[in-house]
Amino acid sequence: MNIILLGAPGAGKGTQASMLAEKYNLLHISTGDIFRANIKGGTEIGKLAKSYMDAGLLVPDSVTCDIVKDRLTWEDAQHGYMLDGFPRNLYQAGELDKFATVDLCLNIDVDVNLLMDRICGRRVCACGESYHVSTLNGKTTCAKCGGELYRRADDNPETVKARLNTYFEQTAPLIDYYKKQGKLLTVRGGKGSPNEVFAQICVELDKRI
Ligand code: ADP
Ligand code: ZN
Repeated sequence: MNIILLGAPGAGKGTQASMLAEKYNLLHISTGDIFRANIKGGTEIGKLAKSYMDAGLLVPDSVTCDIVKDRLTWEDAQHGYMLDGFPRNLYQAGELDKFATVDLCLNIDVDVNLLMDRICGRRVCACGESYHVSTLNGKTTCAKCGGELYRRADDNPETVKARLNTYFEQTAPLIDYYKKQGKLLTVRGGKGSPNEVFAQICVELDKRI
């Protein structure tokens, strides 16, 4: 089963993806993580991506589509995956349809007023876990692996505003795109803990598997 995760920045895509990956044995592919790894590694792609990411803009489609197209040919992607952060506009969705089969689009719907606080209070670990400062009680290390927590470079109010704009202008139209194809599954991600949202997703997903 190949799933697309849709949702505004801060909707909880990454958090839900890591739980879903474990339960349903699906590979989690995050384009944001791929770009951040490239920035860390100092690659050409990383240098290019950084300027767009810092501005809250999308990395050019040609670069992004090539990366995903290649990643989906790896052996570990042949048994089902979740795409987190791709597609992010209608062009990317059209391209994806040329090189992959999408079974389901899981849309995590969160009230826009909650997003700013969620993202600006987010702290992440290199292992992929993320936390919110309000639940850390002053702790600065990851409960899962002990790694040092840090704030993502683009999790500052200015860049977040731009990312939300980009989302509503370019990514939100995908909700309709997948609805028309009969592939849309929307869950409310604004109320309840990550575990409660996860439980809700599992109930819906189990009906479709
Ligand atoms: P979030 O969903 O919280 O904004 P991501 O880690 O998914 O975070 O993405 C961070 C940044 O990486 C985006 O703001 C964008 O600049 C870039 N990016 C990620 N995925 C894509 C994509 N599919 N197309 C273009 N740019 C992307
Ligand atoms: Zn960790």
